[in-house]
Amino acid sequence: MKGLKTVYICSTCEYESPKWMGKCPKCGAWNSFVEDVIDTSAQTKTPAEIKRGYSIGSDSHAVPLDKLEADTCIRSLTGLGELDRVLGGGLVKGSVVLLTGEPGIGKSTLLLQISGILGETRKVLYISGEESSGQLKLRAARLGVKGGDLLVLTETNIDKILKETDSVKPDVLIVDSIQTMFTPQSASSPGSVSQVRETALSFISKAKNDGISVILV
Ligand SMILES: [Zn+2]
Repeated sequence: MKGLKTVYICSTCEYESPKWMGKCPKCGAWNSFVEDVIDTSAQTKTPAEIKRGYSIGSDSHAVPLDKLEADTCIRSLTGLGELDRVLGGGLVKGSVVLLTGEPGIGKSTLLLQISGILGETRKVLYISGEESSGQLKLRAARLGVKGGDLLVLTETNIDKILKETDSVKPDVLIVDSIQTMFTPQSASSPGSVSQVRETALSFISKAKNDGISVILV
């Protein structure tokens, strides 16, 4: 395709190079370069432009400090003591939490348990990009997770996910996992630096604008 260029990006510091390198000249990390495809045609925004263009509030009016809502008022306990402690007292409305860990360590299992508990009192939308709905159903049954107000969507296209989020209007959005999500506006494959960056920014923007608590894996 016209305007497409293959580059190599350091996954540690985002240093960009036209060729693959064993060691990053900027941060010194070894084997940190991953292949990425960028669109060099005029309408594509650079990462800096994307960052400048994204707003963390729903509107752009200045508000007096004493009129701002304090985060402490909108925290909600997840119901799992250790997690609430790590989060500093529960999930904050409009905030994004990133859950990381080695493959197979139990991130999806933990999230499904959290979803089940949260689903008893709040509307939860669980986006599964890793597992089919059948696999998810089996694991939920094994864990004894009941439905409640827990909705499941197996989808990886961010446009479709955000559209469904607008119609469902969940209190909590769980994304399992950000590495499987993609935006059709980028030519890179899911899991690449630019896809993860752009889809994560979309979820962050959604969280801030709609007051949704988002958990990304
Ligand atoms: Zn680097």
